Amino acid sequence: MSRSAIVIGGGLAGMLAAAALSQSVDEVTVLERDTLPDGPQSRRGLPQGRHAHILLPSGREAIERLIPGVSIRKRLLAAGGSEVSLTSSMVTLGPEGWFRRWRHDSHLLTTCSRDLLDWTVREAVLGIAGVTLHSGNVVALQGSGQHVTGVRITAPDGQEADLSADLVVDASGRGSRAPHWLAALGITDIPESIVDSGLVYASRLYRIPEGAEKFPTTQVTADPFASEPGRSALLLPIEDGRWLVSLGGTRGGEPPANAVDFVRFALGLRHPIVGQLISGAEPLSDVVINRSTRNSRRYFEKATTWPEGFVALGDAIATYNPVYGQGMTVAALGARALHHELCQTGIAAPGFARRVQRAAAKPVEAAWTMSTSQDRWFPDVQGNPPTIADRLLARYTRRMTRVATSSYRVSNAMCAVTTMQEDAIRLVRPSLLLATLAGPVLPALSGPPLTQSERAILHTLDRTR
Ligand SMILES: Cc1cc2nc3c(=O)[nH]c(=O)nc-3n(C[C@H](O)[C@H](O)[C@H](O)COP(=O)(O)OP(=O)(O)OC[C@H]3O[C@@H](n4cnc5c(N)ncnc54)[C@H](O)[C@@H]3O)c2cc1C
Repeated sequence: MSRSAIVIGGGLAGMLAAAALSQSVDEVTVLERDTLPDGPQSRRGLPQGRHAHILLPSGREAIERLIPGVSIRKRLLAAGGSEVSLTSSMVTLGPEGWFRRWRHDSHLLTTCSRDLLDWTVREAVLGIAGVTLHSGNVVALQGSGQHVTGVRITAPDGQEADLSADLVVDASGRGSRAPHWLAALGITDIPESIVDSGLVYASRLYRIPEGAEKFPTTQVTADPFASEPGRSALLLPIEDGRWLVSLGGTRGGEPPANAVDFVRFALGLRHPIVGQLISGAEPLSDVVINRSTRNSRRYFEKATTWPEGFVALGDAIATYNPVYGQGMTVAALGARALHHELCQTGIAAPGFARRVQRAAAKPVEAAWTMSTSQDRWFPDVQGNPPTIADRLLARYTRRMTRVATSSYRVSNAMCAVTTMQEDAIRLVRPSLLLATLAGPVLPALSGPPLTQSERAILHTLDRTR
């Protein structure tokens, strides 16, 4: 019997869901309301695409497995993307000091523009037989609280139409209307949670100055425990010889939207390195602002009843403070959960949608815990205040972070968890507990861990001297 699926949204989660479905379903229709560019260009429906995006190793691996026969990794590298080792290449000032750069290359982050990543994935997925893209704005679900049978769309010409399918996947992002659509079918008990630090992102593109092509990805993070607004900066080399610089500030410490104060803000952080690097660099864009950064979660998996034929994935389930770089990886892991369940039982098996929804909630929970356990400490945060358990956990992770600045073993273990390759339980293994309790084994670094040539580049670029 021929099977069909509809995917709402042609962003990353939507394309990866389509790839997962294409291996078990005859016809996959992706419905997208935005005009998708025919190349790696920015678009209106993806405002966050103009800000720094990092793909974690677990996300990259999930994407590689979801799109067999095509290596997205190789295509990104060929198009100018890079891989950055978290333990050896990146220059990072964490909340507890500078991380050392070890000799071992591990935990490779994929770095490129979001436009290039989306385009590369989209082009590969739309090349799969049986996957088609259609213009349309989904406005409602069809069916009942027991069984979703399709969607109602408004086409670009304003005409409404009903489309039916065996499975509808909502991948319409953070603005998803799924709770509203489900309420219209009688499902109203979906708990929601918000932890909002009021973070604002401000980003700007620069041409990489001559001679600085090899300067590493550089990050000055915010300290959530400093009892003041968290301010941060990330300088990310991306394709076409550009630096994408994203500044962040929580409530009361928001970065500016104007060009002059952009550099000043970066110079005023816990260390001025990012400001120094861009102080003489040629800007290639205006400053763009994004305020859609709160942690917000819909616990679909906790609804008392769940209809057959409907699944939500990606930002439609939850969003996180982008500083932790998790959203795209969670979207990819959710699509992997869909793929796994398709292989186990097939799309028409009773309870299929509920099982997918529960499986997709696991990476969501991991990302949510990581993100909110830090964000709860910023001043004036909206959401539940830290509990006693949060306080104990925070003391432990702060100490471990300090130890990680001086120990490859501890740093490696922390990176494995923060990049979602391993469960957080790894961090309380006896050997790590002992290392954490014993404290740092080397003195804290007094400045960024740069090589001699990187130091010379920084010196040359710094116009603030
Ligand atoms: C400033 C910022 C920086 C970030 N940095 C990182 C990072 O470093 N690493 C990381 O992993 N994540 C990062 N994220 C998160 C990441 O952008 C999201 O997790 C990711 O885009 C989620 O993909 P998605 O497909 O679920 O949603 P989206 O990418 O938002 O795609 C949803 C799609 O659905 C379409 N759509 C919406 N409604 C409808 C409808 N009714 N009908 C039809 N189509 C519809 C939209 O047009 C869009 O194309 C960042 C987010 C922000 C805001």
